[in-house]
Amino acid sequence: MPEEDCLFCRIVGRFVPAQIIAENDRFLAFNDINPQAPTHVLIVPKRHVATIAELTSETAPLMGEAVVLANGIARQTGIAEQGYRLVLNCGSGAGQSVFHVHLHLLGGRPMRWPPG
Ligand code: 5GP
Ligand code: ZN
Repeated sequence: MPEEDCLFCRIVGRFVPAQIIAENDRFLAFNDINPQAPTHVLIVPKRHVATIAELTSETAPLMGEAVVLANGIARQTGIAEQGYRLVLNCGSGAGQSVFHVHLHLLGGRPMRWPPG
């Protein structure tokens, strides 16, 4: 069920605007409002799950599908060849600030390691 207080549920429900990049029955992908790279897209399952740690064997396959979507967006935006980064932040200590699972797709610039 969508959560009233959840920003990404509100974006999925079109109560909050976003620059939408792709959509299907199960996902919405949109540009990050505060991009950390020339391409920074969030791939968000429409189903509300707060953190990656809460995924179950039933819901975890969603994230495999999110990766496939991210790969397609990377190809479409022309960042695939140079390489791109997929990020899942789990919990506030790891930098999660929106508690509705989402995959970050970052690319279009060189990436360093380790991440901050
Ligand atoms: P997290 O820190 O939880 O891994 O990622 C949340 C992301 O959501 C951040 O990169 C942040 O910039 C982005 N974000 C926060 N509020 C909004 C918003 O209202 N619209 C969009 N498009 N992105 C947002
Ligand atoms: Zn939500």
